[in-house]
Amino acid sequence: MKLIIASGNAGKLREIRAILGEKFDEILSMKEAGIDHETVEDGATFLENAQKKAREIAEISGCAALADDSGICVDALDGAPGIYSARFCGRHGDDEANNRLLIEKLRDADLRTAHYTCAVSLAFPDGKELHAEGYMYGEIVDEPRGDGGFGYDPYFYLPSYGCTAAELSAEEKNKISHRAEALRKLLGLL
Ligand code: IMP
Repeated sequence: MKLIIASGNAGKLREIRAILGEKFDEILSMKEAGIDHETVEDGATFLENAQKKAREIAEISGCAALADDSGICVDALDGAPGIYSARFCGRHGDDEANNRLLIEKLRDADLRTAHYTCAVSLAFPDGKELHAEGYMYGEIVDEPRGDGGFGYDPYFYLPSYGCTAAELSAEEKNKISHRAEALRKLLGLL
């Protein structure tokens, strides 16, 4: 069976191919499958957003479709920015401004714990669906460290590794990430 990934992110595609490759004959990005579609992400949860993206691509393509939605949930901020992580500062994808706002909001906070969440949804053309979620736990630090990863990684400290997520190699991060956990759980459901 052919699987279409509702994302154009090369890193995500590599990770998904590595974990789910054995279960599908072919795994294609939307671009490789010739699909140009933007889902309006108006769900109230990570899972609702992932589900909506996967369903729409499965319907359009007639193939199985996989989508994910992820973000960071900060305990001192009651779980914010959560599903709004990519546009916390008001502009989509401005990592620097997002991080500045996060550190500003935590200036007087003693509680520093946070976790990344990733929801994945796999929709089949016959309407069947599978879902899974994964998490990565850490603490927000005031000074950035490392130049790997993306988004909030330079400020996301992993106590059990003694470094930030931006100081891990891509290989190390892909082993322990919220996305990897969600994909491995999904693999277990297939
Ligand atoms: P998306 O699910 O790839 O759209 O991710 C949404 C947003 O969550 C990103 O723009 C980042 O701000 C944040 N995010 C999700 N996963 C990670 C991660 O592994 N590291 C850093 N930031 C992340």
